[in-house]
Amino acid sequence: MTDNALPSANIYGPQDHAMRGKDLPRDALQVVSTLKQAGYQAYIVGGGVRDTLLELHPKDFDVATDATPEQAHELFRRSRLIGRRFRLLHVYFGRDFIEVATFRGHAPEDGHEKHEADDEGRVLRDNVYGNMAEDAVRRDFTINSMFFDPDKNEVHDYVNGIEDLDEGYVRLIGDPETRYREDPVRMLRAVRFAVKLSFDIHPDTEKPIPRLHELLANIPAARLFEEVLKLFHTPVAVETYHELRHLHLFQHLFPQTERALQTEDGSWVDQLIEQALSNTERRLKQGKSVTPAFVYAMFLWGPIRRHERMHKEAGMSPVPALQKAQSEVLHQQIASTAIPKRFRGGMTDIWSLQLQLDNPRGRRPLLVLEHPRFRAAYDFLCLRAEVGDADPEKAAWWTKIQEMDEAGQQQMLAELPKGPRRRGRRRKPKPANNAS
Ligand code: ATP
Ligand code: MG
Repeated sequence: MTDNALPSANIYGPQDHAMRGKDLPRDALQVVSTLKQAGYQAYIVGGGVRDTLLELHPKDFDVATDATPEQAHELFRRSRLIGRRFRLLHVYFGRDFIEVATFRGHAPEDGHEKHEADDEGRVLRDNVYGNMAEDAVRRDFTINSMFFDPDKNEVHDYVNGIEDLDEGYVRLIGDPETRYREDPVRMLRAVRFAVKLSFDIHPDTEKPIPRLHELLANIPAARLFEEVLKLFHTPVAVETYHELRHLHLFQHLFPQTERALQTEDGSWVDQLIEQALSNTERRLKQGKSVTPAFVYAMFLWGPIRRHERMHKEAGMSPVPALQKAQSEVLHQQIASTAIPKRFRGGMTDIWSLQLQLDNPRGRRPLLVLEHPRFRAAYDFLCLRAEVGDADPEKAAWWTKIQEMDEAGQQQMLAELPKGPRRRGRRRKPKPANNAS
């Protein structure tokens, strides 16, 4: 793209919209004014502008500037340079930070040392700086590409973002196919914003997805893990799930789950996911915490059941069959979306506890109740019971025992079948080692 092909900005003044600098968080305003005082350009940009114009509560406010990250770094004592794919500056205010990004230029031809692309056209590294117009057009969607000047209360719009905001469109800037090839994650982002804002993906932006969704297979598993969290830890998780499946994107995040959904188990697996996601939505709306371990445990339960059943049919007993199934499914999943170690323990606990919850025996339930992951595992059991994958009477039993005092609990335990007899488990004495 040559300079004269760059758009000029439509500038919307305070008479055109209700966004006001004085209503923005002090931290963001301070970053903008420090940069300006040092002679640089600086604007609020991206999601913060989009959401404020829509009268939503933005998650954060990012700043765009013509200062390089290193130049900006010198202006803020409490700041840190981060990133490789995109070099950025974080300016800290207590535990929070404002992200400062330098205007980026258009990607030059392949082979340029600061720009790398792979065979499918995916941009691997992009640290070429540019001006504001260039920065506007390298962003993903028109509604994410508006700059706000908090002193003049002006919105600078190079890509008709305001129009799309009014009409409710998520629309890629530029040629959609090229933009998806540069970064296939934009397909997931399109869904995320459309659902979050109750917008439509513009037909031109949606059209190439069925042809290009396979490109998601090349995205590093760690980046997809991050995207999964953003997609499903939201108050609109159920709709996001439907839309991702509709556009054939879900299969790249959870391939085994998608296969389970296509089998005769499909209907309960689907219901389980819906129940669990609406559970997540409810918790978020109540300000409660949600953990990736729970969401992942639930997405993978369908596939685990399939593997478990196979192993049991081959003669394995329940405990090893479930364990083997878990490790197989987890292993395969990690190839699609990485799962940090700290969450894997939580997931396997939730799964393993299901066997105990399905078969309360002897005095074991007392230990189970004390397990740090009991609450999550119990919630999981209740969801399973709702969709016919567990016995509702067992779920009710666990609900009841939590409400009992100690005497009541003892009574409930006394009515249980006895624990398994430990027959034949005594070890043979070790043979004497005569060799030494
Ligand atoms: P959210 O509310 O989810 O934070 P956001 O719009 O702030 O939404 P971020 O992922 O925080 O989204 O990214 C900040 C901005 O950076 C976006 O608004 C967009 O302009 C740009 N951006 C982010 N990811 C991409 C991408 N993959 N391709 C092009 N531009 C991107
Ligand atoms: Mg953001």
